[in-house]
Amino acid sequence: MHPALTWLAALWLAAPALTLAQETPPPTDPAQFRACLDGLKDAPAFRAITPATFAAHTAGLEPDPSVLVLLDRQPEFTMPVWDYLAVLVDAERVADGRAAYAKWRDTLARIEQQTGVAAPIVVGVWGVESNFGQNLGGRPLVQSLATLSCFGRRQTYFRGEFAAALRILQEGHVVPEQLTGSWAGAFGQTQFMPSTFLRSAVDFDGDGRRDIVGSVPDALASTAKFLQNAGWRRGEPWGVEVRLPRGLDTSGTGRKARRPMAEWRRLGLTRADGGPLPDDLPAAGLMVPARGGPAFLVGRNFDALYSYNASENYALAIAHLADLVADADAPLAFVTPWPTDDPGLSRAENRELQILLIARGHDIGSADGMIGALTRTAIKAEQQRLGMKVDGRAGQRLLEALR
Ligand code: CA
Repeated sequence: MHPALTWLAALWLAAPALTLAQETPPPTDPAQFRACLDGLKDAPAFRAITPATFAAHTAGLEPDPSVLVLLDRQPEFTMPVWDYLAVLVDAERVADGRAAYAKWRDTLARIEQQTGVAAPIVVGVWGVESNFGQNLGGRPLVQSLATLSCFGRRQTYFRGEFAAALRILQEGHVVPEQLTGSWAGAFGQTQFMPSTFLRSAVDFDGDGRRDIVGSVPDALASTAKFLQNAGWRRGEPWGVEVRLPRGLDTSGTGRKARRPMAEWRRLGLTRADGGPLPDDLPAAGLMVPARGGPAFLVGRNFDALYSYNASENYALAIAHLADLVADADAPLAFVTPWPTDDPGLSRAENRELQILLIARGHDIGSADGMIGALTRTAIKAEQQRLGMKVDGRAGQRLLEALR
């Protein structure tokens, strides 16, 4: 629900526990924490929380300093868009997505009927946010959010999320032991922040609880509701990969600079395979994530996907995964290749790379497919040894060299 708040944060930002432990967290004085909580319970943001709820969930609570380390961590590595897509939309996730689509087809059809959000899109969000419910995050939300409410640089924001989390518990939507998530408080199969939950979560299985952790129908319907609230238009595609005419002036173009489709046709744009532009997309903006790479015309529904995580690359990953889920014959790659001679790695290839690094004596923990700080250090050492550019990036060239 925020670039740094989903499980993606674990992928891009969080180092394995070993490295984390070596960093000195800011001090979290227990007496100061207790005084802070005592002050919070009467604060305006906590108006809807009863004293009994507040007491039940904060009695004996201790701060978790490790979330403050993550709060202040800067991305160590800016990932090219092709690396991002390679790991988020790999063959494994497409296969899992097609299976999930088949399994939940009836539920998804009813959700689409009610919200207008295309079923494959909902599956795409589910796959990117939580790997279809497999990566929910294991940190107790109340402890993380209470810590971030009392220490660190975004206390006002996190106090609102802390209050929302307590309200979720007070209303009995999620059982306390299951209210776990990312260090920053994103939780459940949709990785909603608690305030987003209060705005968008729905009870779709009819048991009276909005349970985006334990109920797949609730989670899928909540995702669709979020996109509907974000302006999703029934029957419109997110966009389409296009081929640009030679010499097209792309100045002033972009996702938000929408023009009527007729104008794009007049300028000579076609589908990437040369076919005519779609009739069901009235207006679109031209998005070129990497110069010389694939180009896309994207409509208002792409903006709805963008609002899920405020990242064009993220929205593109969902859109592409949705297309692949919807069409069993669609190839993994875009028609126009990415402008690189060293493509990114899938999760399976990341695991293979890690196994090769471990075999060469690098202490990087287990081969979990997540390229964290320890893996990057090992990659740098191997790049140095092989005379490659030393940037810590996991790419095809390094994988081939180590094979
Ligand atoms: Ca329910």
